[in-house]
Amino acid sequence: MNLNFVAGKTFETIDPRTGETIARVSEGDKEDIDLAVGAARRAFDHGPWPRLPGAARAKIMHKFADLIDQHIEELATLDTLNAGKLFSWGKAVDIPSVANTLRYFAGAADKIHGQVLKMSRELHAYTLLEPIGVVGLIIPWNFPSTMFFVKVAPALAAGCTMVVKPAEQTPLSALFFAHLAREAGIPDGVMNVVVGYGATAGAAISAHMDVDKVSFTGSTEVGRKVMQAAALSNLKPVSLELGGKSPVLIFDDADVDKAVDLALLAIFYNKGEVCAAGSRVFVQEGIYDEFVKKLAVKAKEWTVGDPLDPTTRVGPQVNKTQFERVLSYIEHGKREGATLLTGGKPAAETGFYIQPTVFTDVKEDMMISRDEIFGPVMALMKFKTIEEGIKYANNTKYGLASGIVTKSLDIANTVSRSIKAGVVWINCYHGFDIDCPFGGYKMSGFGKDFGMEALHKYLQTKAVVTPIYNSPWL
Ligand code: NAD
Repeated sequence: MNLNFVAGKTFETIDPRTGETIARVSEGDKEDIDLAVGAARRAFDHGPWPRLPGAARAKIMHKFADLIDQHIEELATLDTLNAGKLFSWGKAVDIPSVANTLRYFAGAADKIHGQVLKMSRELHAYTLLEPIGVVGLIIPWNFPSTMFFVKVAPALAAGCTMVVKPAEQTPLSALFFAHLAREAGIPDGVMNVVVGYGATAGAAISAHMDVDKVSFTGSTEVGRKVMQAAALSNLKPVSLELGGKSPVLIFDDADVDKAVDLALLAIFYNKGEVCAAGSRVFVQEGIYDEFVKKLAVKAKEWTVGDPLDPTTRVGPQVNKTQFERVLSYIEHGKREGATLLTGGKPAAETGFYIQPTVFTDVKEDMMISRDEIFGPVMALMKFKTIEEGIKYANNTKYGLASGIVTKSLDIANTVSRSIKAGVVWINCYHGFDIDCPFGGYKMSGFGKDFGMEALHKYLQTKAVVTPIYNSPWL
């Protein structure tokens, strides 16, 4: 951990509940990334981490996880004060889950092995799975702790060394994690956290000739830049977890009350700042009117307020930029002719609070139906047949997540196989688990971030081949 970067610059980090500055943080830029990559390179080429038996890496990762468990309240508080996330949820779910993410991948660290191959000629071969090297991990602000560990944990287990760049909006928990990593015994140079802006520090990682892979989570626009920089530098592989505009399809046979609750959770969880948010909700015509009536009432149960208050369900948007962006989409929706069913305004005098908002009469070509808003704004639409529902659901450049609500196995089977998205949640939503691969189709990116597939992003395969006897080459 290095809290004093080369140029000595700092920037403010704010509390979205008030808009006030809560800390000044050292700002790393290209020179600092060079130093961090240098440290990671030395640790990879000459240090113990990639050479340790997997079980020894696992032991340190378990200690790291235990230390996180000992600091759950502080870490949940940092994500609340810095990102506006619900403290109660952070304490009960987010922070305990990141410790478990470390444990999950620690469990895999001593089970990384290749295969013995049966060759057609008189050759013997086996494959080695080797750590890919120095990895650049670029993280967004909406789940500062979760996103940190879905990348760091498999990279550590694989034996990689890394430069991690948290989002400039939410650096605080990442700095705490860097401190705990040292206490856990992660050797120097293995996990380097550099706080800085995307256009400087982030761009320096993706263009760096000595970074062997970049794993990025963020917007589709920036994902494209990361891929371009990788292509124009050392052709490093990239994996991209990008944006979404995920559909929720609710069929006529659904229990309307439960479907309403599910649809509200799909969009308003984490104040809509979720890549997988169910932001387009399609309801079949037979239950549409009843659904809309109930939705208008139940949306009010999503109380907006201080995320430290355990009764709050919707905290503030992360910062002023995001707050204004969401409000401008709401204005667009009104101008384009959608009907505001509920919400649509700031929810407090100070801070970046927005009322949970639902639009009806949305048309597929409206901006609120096409663009990722990344806020608590639902676009509600009606469909007639299953085929029409599938067509609407797939009418997006994104393909991250989706939801289906039905009692019919036939509908569930047909629709789940027809939707072009990385996850289909049937009669549930946001059903995340560290063992379940998560990542996009289409312009939502490629490369999974959860599950054992994630480990393989940080490994590469080497084939070792030798004649069984009497080499004809010698
Ligand atoms: P963003 O793309 O603006 O920033 C993400 C990260 O990239 C930040 O750390 C930022 O500093 C960095 N960055 C910015 N410009 C860069 C550049 N030129 N080169 C390298 N790095 C750069 O996204 P955001 O606003 O932080 O997060 C919101 C977006 O992230 C949404 O689109 C959301 O859907 C997406 N997201 C996706 C997932 C997923 O798993 N698919 C998860 C969370 C968020």
